[in-house]
Amino acid sequence: MIEDKNPSRTPISELGEFGLIDHLTKNFKATQKSTIKSIGDDAAVLDFKSKQVVISTDILVEHVHFDLSYMPLKHLGYKAMIANLSDVYAMNASATQVTIAIAISNRFPLEALEELYAGIETASKIYGVDVVGGDTTSSTTGLIISITAVGEVNKNDVVYRSGAKPNDLLVVTGDLGAAYMGLQILEREKEVFKVNPNNQPDLEPYTYIVERQLKPEARKDIIKLLRDLKVKPTSMIDISDGLSSEIIHLCKQSNVGAVLYENKIPLDPQVISTCEEFNIDSTTIALNGGEDYELLMTIAQEDFPKIKGNPNLTVIGYMTEKEQGMHLITRGDALIPLIAKGWNALKDQ
Ligand code: ADP
Ligand code: MG
Repeated sequence: MIEDKNPSRTPISELGEFGLIDHLTKNFKATQKSTIKSIGDDAAVLDFKSKQVVISTDILVEHVHFDLSYMPLKHLGYKAMIANLSDVYAMNASATQVTIAIAISNRFPLEALEELYAGIETASKIYGVDVVGGDTTSSTTGLIISITAVGEVNKNDVVYRSGAKPNDLLVVTGDLGAAYMGLQILEREKEVFKVNPNNQPDLEPYTYIVERQLKPEARKDIIKLLRDLKVKPTSMIDISDGLSSEIIHLCKQSNVGAVLYENKIPLDPQVISTCEEFNIDSTTIALNGGEDYELLMTIAQEDFPKIKGNPNLTVIGYMTEKEQGMHLITRGDALIPLIAKGWNALKDQ
């Protein structure tokens, strides 16, 4: 539905591997002080002085994690960056560098890779991270993209999943479920398009949720906000697989339980209306839909005055002793055990 009708197609073979890498990375300029040597040698060289270094890798596989029939390559490049940067921010660290590994089949012309790298470049500029290396190889099936993100953090500032204590407040940023509902809209429009290619989708009523699916953001702003508010979360995780499974991760690693209030879960009105249209429960979507890239954290009770009323941070529950388990308190005051149904890349394989 978003296919370019008259694209120019330059075969990758015209450039060769080294020509391709040069071409794709020629605009990248290192801006981080810690980048000593970027693309061009056998390895990048970084210098973090007295900081601790965090590293995180993700891999995205065509047909498993993304569908190019509605995911423009530019957005894919951007989103792949976001997914990785989000993991760095979830450690309360600043993201500084990435490396990018791609495997491509010959069905991708140079122009397609230019699009992918345009998205990568945009994200690198917006988030201020240097692209310092990568690897390029061929694939016989689809596109594979793997990004490794590097970040830095003062030793005393790093936040793990394991620090939550009973009575800590459970706090989430932004709103939940939008990326999943955006995906439902795109999947639906893809089916409509298959039946009638002349039928142009009207995505207007779904702008927010479709954007949350195609062009998500990572919460770099929250790391700064927490610093400004002088709040160090006791534990933190990014929400890539759904609220429920992330709460369970925090509880298991911190050896605590949790209570989550259904009526506190932040939902955008477009998520609520689209859930009504699809006849699905919005709480289920917030609990189990993935790819929101918000941050879930626990905060000591004494820090509550510092975050109170902040529109970016919503208190959705609190941590308990482990023995009390992990529960959702519904709008009707029923106590329901939390289970991880979260989005799982391996579930249908
Ligand atoms: P090597 O043979 O040592 O693996 P390459 O020829 O693969 O080296 O890479 C040359 C340089 O280009 C290295 O600095 C590498 O990190 C970088 N590079 C390779 N592929 C990519 C890519 N897809 N994106 C960004 N940098 C890349
Ligand atoms: Mg290589």
